[in-house]
Amino acid sequence: MSETKGKKKVSLTVWIFGALVLGVIVGLLMQGCADVAENYIKPFGTIFLNLIKMVVVPVVLLSIMQGIISLQDVRKVGSIGVKTVCFYLCTTAFAVTLGLLFANILNVGAGYTLGSEELVYEASEAPSFMDTLVNIFPSNAVQPLANATMLQVIVIALFFGFGIILAGEKGRIAKDVIDSFSEVSFKVMEMIIKLSPIGVFALITPVVATNGMDILLPLLKVIGVAYVTYIVHMVLVYSSTVKIISGMSPLKFFKGMSQAMIFAFSSASSVGALPFNLECTQKLGARKEIASFVLPLGATINMDGTAIYQGVCAIFIGQIFGIDLTISQQITIILTATLASIGTAGVPGSGMIMLAMVLESVGLPLEGIALVAGIDRILDMGRTCVNITGDAACTICVDAMEKRKEARRA
Ligand code: ASP
Repeated sequence: MSETKGKKKVSLTVWIFGALVLGVIVGLLMQGCADVAENYIKPFGTIFLNLIKMVVVPVVLLSIMQGIISLQDVRKVGSIGVKTVCFYLCTTAFAVTLGLLFANILNVGAGYTLGSEELVYEASEAPSFMDTLVNIFPSNAVQPLANATMLQVIVIALFFGFGIILAGEKGRIAKDVIDSFSEVSFKVMEMIIKLSPIGVFALITPVVATNGMDILLPLLKVIGVAYVTYIVHMVLVYSSTVKIISGMSPLKFFKGMSQAMIFAFSSASSVGALPFNLECTQKLGARKEIASFVLPLGATINMDGTAIYQGVCAIFIGQIFGIDLTISQQITIILTATLASIGTAGVPGSGMIMLAMVLESVGLPLEGIALVAGIDRILDMGRTCVNITGDAACTICVDAMEKRKEARRA
């Protein structure tokens, strides 16, 4: 029976990959009539994303609560939480450092001089660090669910999850309700996942048709440096942590993750890719209660790919404006980008808004963002793929650490 199940999953992955390739080909063919792709193909992608967005709040809320409740012990949640957050922060700081290093070594901005025409970028909406911190805590328990403010949803899930544990026997009904609704929302999610080949095709075609090759050529170097760093980070950090901490072969890990990675790549949304990630990591052996706690948290606060992008863009913008960044400025970038990644929402394009916060921290001109804005979607696809793979690597590692701990106790 499990073989049939395995076969089914593989075929969905193949379908998604086929849809991606077809989307690129059709997009290239439709370059002359990009508006047709925008008007008639993109809406199907939007419908698909809407469905994902519809299910994502219940999935995050219920899965984190269910994860906490099934761990049964506030201290255990605390220990998993600390491991998870440490893993996330360390890998993100490493990611931005790698981004800065590669951008410096490969001279990402060299040979590109700024034209005389004024670049215009609307004043940044990036919040300050203190605002980001305060905004994590909602003053209303319903509004964040309606507005899909994911960090606040996580805080609500944490408090109510702990509440149910602490209420003991009296919390039993609440626990059963959460369990039941959680199963229901996962079934809804499965139905939507089945539509993903159509969604992927409809999302990728207009991107390729609109951006084409022309806009890419001058900025190819930024794309090249960012993608090289994305790949090096994934291979270096995720392969080694997964291998060393959990003993899993990196090949098995990346193969098992391919479905979620392809979806993240084409949708540019970590939150959207969350249902796929939950499925892939559990297939790789992570326990449900760990995955349903670590992944939604990661989809919201862990953005290694975004941090790499911000490092590369900061150096690029510095170089084209003729500004040399000192070592202490680059350290500031590492700190700000790591914190900015916590505030970055797992939706398309949000990393670009947080880039403003990073540039501001070292006094780089925000107008530089206008340059990379044209290719943002292409950079976003890669960085989202890195973001969710980092969440999965953390899940596999935390799960392995917890299993070892339990075995020692036993
Ligand atoms: N699109 C990214 C994500 O969902 C966030 C970003 O824009 O960097 O993970």
